Amino acid sequence: MKERIWLASPHMSKEGYEQKYVKEAFDKNWIAPLGENVDKFEEELANYVGVKYAAALSSGTAAIHMALKAAGIGEGDIVFCSSLTFSATANPIIYQNATPVFIDSEEETWNMDPKALEKAFEKYPNPKAVVVVHLYGVPAKMNEIIEICKNHNVTLIEDAAESLGSIYKGKQTGTFGKYGIYSFNGNKIITTSGGGMLVSNDEERIQKVRFWSTQSRDKARHYQHSEIGYNYRMSNIVAGIGRGQLKVLDERIKQKTDIYNRYKEAFKDIKEIKMQPVPEDTKPNHWLSTFVLNEASRVKPNDIMNALDAENIESRPVWKPMHLQPIFEKYDFISTCEEEDSVGQKLFENGVCLPSDTKMTEKEQQVVINVIKNLFENK
Ligand SMILES: *Cc1c(COP(=O)(O)O)cnc(C)c1O
Repeated sequence: MKERIWLASPHMSKEGYEQKYVKEAFDKNWIAPLGENVDKFEEELANYVGVKYAAALSSGTAAIHMALKAAGIGEGDIVFCSSLTFSATANPIIYQNATPVFIDSEEETWNMDPKALEKAFEKYPNPKAVVVVHLYGVPAKMNEIIEICKNHNVTLIEDAAESLGSIYKGKQTGTFGKYGIYSFNGNKIITTSGGGMLVSNDEERIQKVRFWSTQSRDKARHYQHSEIGYNYRMSNIVAGIGRGQLKVLDERIKQKTDIYNRYKEAFKDIKEIKMQPVPEDTKPNHWLSTFVLNEASRVKPNDIMNALDAENIESRPVWKPMHLQPIFEKYDFISTCEEEDSVGQKLFENGVCLPSDTKMTEKEQQVVINVIKNLFENK
């Protein structure tokens, strides 16, 4: 069997930066949460994205949870949330006993539709927060979304788990909202095996998150607690991997962009295929290259995924929207589409995530392209 071609897999630096920082931690016996790597990783990531403060945590999910808690989200509060996303965006809303209201996507970025968001405020005038996702690294329509959030005086949280390094009008995603989060899970553009980061310009809130995520220990000689704590801090070993990975982030973005552009060029004459668009004045990190087939296409996503699978190539449907998930379908969903229809559902039913692994060679990508092209030529 040929070696598998992956959607996205860990890709350590060829220079071995990650091992150098991990070795340092070993040499100093900093095998613990906290230590120099954690402090430096926070500082280096904050500098990279251009935000003042960061808290390194055990996962992106933990970072979303802490963002919601820092924003004061509690029992019964309404939180508007992108529907077309991975479940980790929405789960922490439930951890806080709050109520999600899911917002549909628009077709130009596949992200939260500002018109649907505006409509949601008509039905629910007092949500406590808006959680917006930059799906597959493509920035959402932030100008519009920020404007709406300002007008309604509501906290904006950006789930930039998939979009570290993506730029919207000259500024990094994750830095527009009051809080932004990143993920370093094994499949993300850079990885620490698992980890996450919460960023904000509010020092007091970031300090508070560090306090909660290390078990809420009050200042005392004995263990004293006046708040519920969490064990959410990133370990010093993991942070070492992160520091090394951060050095190759720009290189990874370049590689992912090349992958996207090769797909786009290869499929430009197949009228059934529409790549996820790159909106004006944005520079996505192209974490995953994805496309959607028009509904009339005789080649269906399953045909593509089956054909790729037969060649030991990984691919995946576009994420299934939250409002269609059994666990979340009881919550409200706001769309500008008629009745049961939604943009998110169409993208889910007709979309495919393509292999976007930065270790994939050009030759391997050509195999992927040929498999797909053949399907259209034979129909
Ligand atoms: C990966 C991901 C998360 C969760 O990050 P973890 O580090 O895996 O907990 C959250 N939101 C989105 C959109 C993601 O893709």
